[in-house]
Amino acid sequence: MLDTSPPWDDIQNYIDGCWQTPSGTEKQEVVNPATAETLSQIQFSSDDDVEAAVRAGQEAFEQWQSTPVEERIQPLFEFKQLLEAHLDELSKVLVQEHGKTFAEAKGELRRGIENVEVACGIPSMMQAGHLPNAAPGIDETAVRKPLGVFTAITPFNFPGMIPLWFLPYAVATGNAFILKPSERDPVVAQRIFELVDAAGFPDGIVQLVNGGVNTVNALLDHDDIQGASFVGSTPVAKTVYERAATNGKRVQAQGGAKNHVIVTESADLEFAATKTVSSACACGGERCLANDVIVVEEGVYDEFVDHVLEEAASQTVGYGLDDGTDIGALITPEHESRVRDLIATGVDEGAKLLLDGRDIEVDGYETGNFLAPTVFGDVEPQMTIAREEIFGPVLGLMSVEDLNEAIDVMNRSDFGNAASLFTREGADARKVRHEADVGNLGVNAGTAAPMAFFHFGGRKDSFFGDLHAQGEDMIHFYTDKTIYIERWPDN
Ligand code: NAD
Repeated sequence: MLDTSPPWDDIQNYIDGCWQTPSGTEKQEVVNPATAETLSQIQFSSDDDVEAAVRAGQEAFEQWQSTPVEERIQPLFEFKQLLEAHLDELSKVLVQEHGKTFAEAKGELRRGIENVEVACGIPSMMQAGHLPNAAPGIDETAVRKPLGVFTAITPFNFPGMIPLWFLPYAVATGNAFILKPSERDPVVAQRIFELVDAAGFPDGIVQLVNGGVNTVNALLDHDDIQGASFVGSTPVAKTVYERAATNGKRVQAQGGAKNHVIVTESADLEFAATKTVSSACACGGERCLANDVIVVEEGVYDEFVDHVLEEAASQTVGYGLDDGTDIGALITPEHESRVRDLIATGVDEGAKLLLDGRDIEVDGYETGNFLAPTVFGDVEPQMTIAREEIFGPVLGLMSVEDLNEAIDVMNRSDFGNAASLFTREGADARKVRHEADVGNLGVNAGTAAPMAFFHFGGRKDSFFGDLHAQGEDMIHFYTDKTIYIERWPDN
């Protein structure tokens, strides 16, 4: 049984197969966003902790890289079984430190487990190619080789899933892996690593180092880290990308987002409204795939607004562990204040506040960081709420003349993470598929989240690098290809 009842022990690192107290000086409390209860305490890692993890990873890699691939995936099969067996416990922990609902926590962990499943197929996915008689008497063979120690630096909003976008592929391909999770909700990673510990990976192959900016920098500056994956806000993604690249590392950095929904006159408006509100408000709006700028063809704008208001007003805000909760708490009081400031800015800049979620009170959870769905109408593309990532349950509706104008509004965004189109017209869908400058596009799907066997897209200020998280891109990121050109004299 995993421990799901706080208060929990202080956060530990997992280095070379052992649990260790981080030795840095900085400390921070881990707090339940719905109850304000202190759950645990995190002490950050020092450069020495990072050094110890990288050294252990490098030593373990020497043997792991030539361990037969069939053997390498056995701990992953075990890890998947353990994740499944402890899914409810992991979800319960996640809700308490993050604030989202139990169903959302379980959903994100399921999406994480999918990546473990895909990585178990590495014996097929890692093959690179062989061509006999590529030239007279010459055979050519491409092989993929692991590179060494990799790291991933992950955000607070999917603390269970996002580490699993990377970990399974890194180790299945024969590398060692170090996770630096968000310092705001690090407990679910502790529990996941208890399962890593039980799954039978060799010591040093999968490690956990907790901390903040200094820990990230120590990882990015270390000569024996071959590559870094980052997921987080755009300014930090840019910095991490530049620092890792300057240090000669492979790097993929996924940043923030501002996503659009386009609703055409032919769309099923009721269905589109349900999906739109869910996309914008589920997980408290703290999703890089949240669509919060809703661009509607003018002929159906008023009718669609009515559907959205009805759906948004029907959402129950509360504690994520309580039955019937649709929308949980935001991560910190500071983040809640930032979202409230953005709502005030929306009003100041002239958007029409159609549904105001600021007065919400949740009985029994008066100290929680709650906001109810907030809906703006008459939003214009230049307004702050139409340009900046809000990361709260706030959405803005905009009326446009036609599909061309809608696409233009969407493509003028600095971000290019995701978008959704609601339509019954194939020609409209085809046009948007060709013209949308986004990495994930949903058609009649509100949240364009790809399954693990596809890469997770992202463009413009939402992504820095070339190979994306999940699926086959991860095999390319975690391996280098060598070509053997062979000629043998005839017998
Ligand atoms: P964040 O950028 O504050 O933190 C992400 C990670 O970076 C954490 O582990 C943190 O410790 C570390 N970090 C923070 N500041 C740093 C600095 N100056 N230098 C080095 N490391 C630093 O992001 P967050 O608030 O935890 O997560 C929310 C953001 O992540 C949103 O912008 C969201 O859109 C984005 N996100 C993007 C995707 C995607 O796939 N594009 C997925 C999830 C979240």
